[in-house]
Amino acid sequence: MPRAPVRRTKIVATLGPAWEQPEQMRALLQAGVNVVRINASHGTPQVRARWVRHLKEVLAEQREAVSILFDLQGPRIRVGNLPEPLRLTAGQRVVFAPEAVARDGEIPSTYAGLSQDVHVGSAILLDDGLLKVEVTDVREDRVGGEVRYGGELKSHKGMNLPGIEVSAPALTEKDREDAAQAAELGVDYLALSFVRRPEDLQELRAMVPHRMKLVAKIEKDTALRNLCGILDASDAIMVARGDLGVELPFEEVPLMQKQIIREAGLHGRPVITATQMLESMVHAPRPTRAEASDVANAILDGTDAVMLSAETAVGAYPLESVQAMDRISREMETHRQGRGVTIDAALGRRSPVTESLRQHRSNPGGPIRTEDAIAVAVCAAAEMLGAPLIVCFTSSGFTARKVATCRPTVPVFAVTPEEDTFRQLALVWGVTPALTEHSTDYDAMLAAARRQILDRGLAQPGERLVVTAGVPFDMPGTTNLLKIEAV
Ligand code: PEP
Repeated sequence: MPRAPVRRTKIVATLGPAWEQPEQMRALLQAGVNVVRINASHGTPQVRARWVRHLKEVLAEQREAVSILFDLQGPRIRVGNLPEPLRLTAGQRVVFAPEAVARDGEIPSTYAGLSQDVHVGSAILLDDGLLKVEVTDVREDRVGGEVRYGGELKSHKGMNLPGIEVSAPALTEKDREDAAQAAELGVDYLALSFVRRPEDLQELRAMVPHRMKLVAKIEKDTALRNLCGILDASDAIMVARGDLGVELPFEEVPLMQKQIIREAGLHGRPVITATQMLESMVHAPRPTRAEASDVANAILDGTDAVMLSAETAVGAYPLESVQAMDRISREMETHRQGRGVTIDAALGRRSPVTESLRQHRSNPGGPIRTEDAIAVAVCAAAEMLGAPLIVCFTSSGFTARKVATCRPTVPVFAVTPEEDTFRQLALVWGVTPALTEHSTDYDAMLAAARRQILDRGLAQPGERLVVTAGVPFDMPGTTNLLKIEAV
């Protein structure tokens, strides 16, 4: 039986009217969506509950793991309700006022603290940075400014304040309600927008079940200054380039993306690269060359996942967008599988993996942690043996994430009895999650893994597998076993 090709880069697709019917969901999942994102900035709780219900019915029919990621709006500042769109022209004077007190002719803002945070000379960017106002005066709760770049301004468009330390709380009342709904719906990942500091995630963590994983969206310059702490406090991160590219000068985003992805790798956190990856596919059946290159470059940077936003949520070609992501990812992986450095690591030569472990360990100059040594050795063994797969027995997903961080040259088959872990590992680069019966017996787990591997055509009888686990089972964070087994 031919070996089924496994795509290592994961695809996150935002759910929306473009694929909300069960038949459409089936088609996109079949095309290779690994993580379904529900954006709480749009729609109602009723619509989101219906989406999750349909999604779970469709997912129950299939073997492959799929995560649900619920994305909280966070303290996004928006233009309030405008009776009709405003046409702003360069040089025009405007006044921003809190929504509750705004008078005719003023621009209402959902953020009552605007006048406390900005100062003369601050930039207020509107509608993804397409319109720009420079602050000229601040009076009590009103902010006066002059339009630098004009255009049409509609109700509820986003407002960004680049370089300003916004004093709004990390979680709004809406976020608290939405987080409660996410917990009730039993989603796998909860993302928080506009994270500024580790405490923002700690606050959220205290509100949701322990099993739920938190994703920090990196889209503010403050977050970049606190990146290490944020990575420690989160379970995964997102390079949220939509707002990051408005909060920072856009020319800084490409290198920032590389640095964030690298830092996430050092902390062992999966990373999603998001926004405008295939933007033109909202209206067209093919991506531009620049978009194809952008997806490819994020993969070269080492991202775990690439994300589709409007392309799948409201676009005319949601299926084609997923297929395009899939094609680009597979093409990249044909030419470059993993980091290809594990033999160097095993032989003690300097490589990105060993280097990152050196930098990350708590004891500079001393030996590295057992789980890191095992992960590097597992990848090197798989490469040297020409093994078709690495098999991880994992309950929390820790062992699989550790091995994936080393970017092995072969897929990681992660066998787990835990349904949460099974779904959550769908986000992690190179990991194929498989659900099995609970067992604390190594031989029983191996037999179950063998059955699934043969059934899926991932290896042939007689081929060698590299097996890793934490023994005793059921104790997260104890990766300590490496064995070579025949299929
Ligand atoms: C982003 O800003 O890139 C992002 C993913 O966030 P949202 O889509 O919620 O604006």
